[in-house]
Amino acid sequence: MTDRGQQIDRLRDGKDGFDVVVIGGGAMGLGVAVESMSQGFRTALVEQHDFAHGTSSRSTKLIHGGIRYLAQRDFGLVRESLHERKQLCEQYSDVVHPLSFVIPTYSRREHLYYRAGTWLYDRLAGRMNLAASRSLTRSQTLLDLPYLKSQGLRGGVQYSDAQFDDARLALRLAQQIWANDEVAVNYTKVVEVVQQGERVVGVMVEDLESGQQFVVRGKVVVNATGVAADQVRGMANRQAIQRLRFSQGTHLVVDAQAEWKHALLVPQTPDGRVVFIIPWLGKLLIGTTDIEVEDSSFHPIPTRAEIDYLLELAGRYLQQSLTLDDVRSVFAGHRALVLREPGSMTHQLSRSHVVEEDPVGMIHVLGGKWTTFAAVARDVVRHLRKSGVAPARPQRHGSSSRSNSGRDEKYSSSVSAMDESLDPRLPIKMSDITTAASVEMARSVADVLARRTRCLFLDAKATSEIAPRVAESLARQLGRDLEWQAEQTRELRALAQQYQVSGGDSVGR
Ligand SMILES: Cc1cc2nc3c(=O)[nH]c(=O)nc-3n(C[C@H](O)[C@H](O)[C@H](O)COP(=O)(O)OP(=O)(O)OC[C@H]3O[C@@H](n4cnc5c(N)ncnc54)[C@H](O)[C@@H]3O)c2cc1C
Repeated sequence: MTDRGQQIDRLRDGKDGFDVVVIGGGAMGLGVAVESMSQGFRTALVEQHDFAHGTSSRSTKLIHGGIRYLAQRDFGLVRESLHERKQLCEQYSDVVHPLSFVIPTYSRREHLYYRAGTWLYDRLAGRMNLAASRSLTRSQTLLDLPYLKSQGLRGGVQYSDAQFDDARLALRLAQQIWANDEVAVNYTKVVEVVQQGERVVGVMVEDLESGQQFVVRGKVVVNATGVAADQVRGMANRQAIQRLRFSQGTHLVVDAQAEWKHALLVPQTPDGRVVFIIPWLGKLLIGTTDIEVEDSSFHPIPTRAEIDYLLELAGRYLQQSLTLDDVRSVFAGHRALVLREPGSMTHQLSRSHVVEEDPVGMIHVLGGKWTTFAAVARDVVRHLRKSGVAPARPQRHGSSSRSNSGRDEKYSSSVSAMDESLDPRLPIKMSDITTAASVEMARSVADVLARRTRCLFLDAKATSEIAPRVAESLARQLGRDLEWQAEQTRELRALAQQYQVSGGDSVGR
């Protein structure tokens, strides 16, 4: 049982304060909290919305080296990511698994180019490789990707990467924190950074459920707020230079006509990007776009132009012609990219991270990928040690020291297997709602349908239809009344509208 009320009490009553207070419950913040507690630091994490509500639930769901970064000669990032990939496949094998990718080729020159790229990818992975890449003939390519258009096809190149469920991995990290008796609470917003003289000594937090505000003290405060990092840095240092630029990436989800065993990589779109078509939880995920945006958001709205672009691109490769009516869900996320050279296009900016300590003693995490969250976390803990903070407890022998069950309950629970499905179009059972409320700190219907299960990302219309039943069951678990149920159903339905698209309509601005 993970009781949010108890977690709030611990946050508020931590008289001596914590060693480390982490702001932000996405990939980076959760990763930092897991690493810091495993090194013996008393750790608290606060998240203003739900865990992974921001960019961390809107990724392409790949734990990957990033084959496209080879063209940018970002070999350091690719090597680091490939090493992390192997470790994550081993440590979180219930949520992260290898996946084979095929790059179709249309000329000998192109074939040799991509074969050389995947060969280099294997070399950079070295002993940490998942499986060797190989050349495919035309007929082998069509065997692996039976839905690929055959016109002009010469062959293909196959390589391996890994796939995961981003929001579920975030939950898995949160559960590690709870299991190790440390604190991680959703719906707690940092409204102010508390300073004593020149030093940051904690944060003022608002519990968004009760409306109460209180101070949480920490020897070090880590700002892991993704696209809001410049903003939160500004709370402590108004003179701080803005370091981030933002780009928006949109994905479409469509029905898979049959089982896809391999993913398809379109390595060079007309505007110089890559696009994936990936089997994911029984559907196909198509994405991503990469457009520069001025302002950041944790819940950006896809534009109609992005949707049309992805449909058109998929149509060039797939036999099945896709229209707006085929789109079951559409979602977008914002990347935080660290500006190092002025004038760079966002898709050319490196995805590598930066960890910085500013003069007031706050540590900032800028940029990074889901794949490298553990490397980012190790980097932050190195900074902690350098800044002279000593852990209050003995080291806990790595982040896997004590896990609630050692596995993601959503994926391994035999209780849920006995349960009845709520809707044949969606991967959700009644017991998933109980699990979400009792051990995963779900507080709203959207928490259950968007992140504890991935229903909203898979089929927004079907998700809208089951909202009242989910609200009723969740209300029972959380002791809420009929009014709350009605409000939750309304909110979920309004949200689901943003994930839907229909012929002639624009979801976007
Ligand atoms: C379209 C797209 C596709 C991607 N695909 C991949 C991929 O396939 N593989 C990969 O490795 N990476 C991928 N990435 C990158 C990866 O998703 C991000 O690097 C990662 O999720 C960022 O995590 P984060 O914790 O920094 O940010 P976030 O997940 O946004 O978390 C920051 C959190 O801080 C919280 N917060 C902000 N302000 C406050 C406050 N005042 N108080 C409390 N909390 C606060 C927010 O609510 C938010 O939850 C992709 C990114 C995008 C945009």
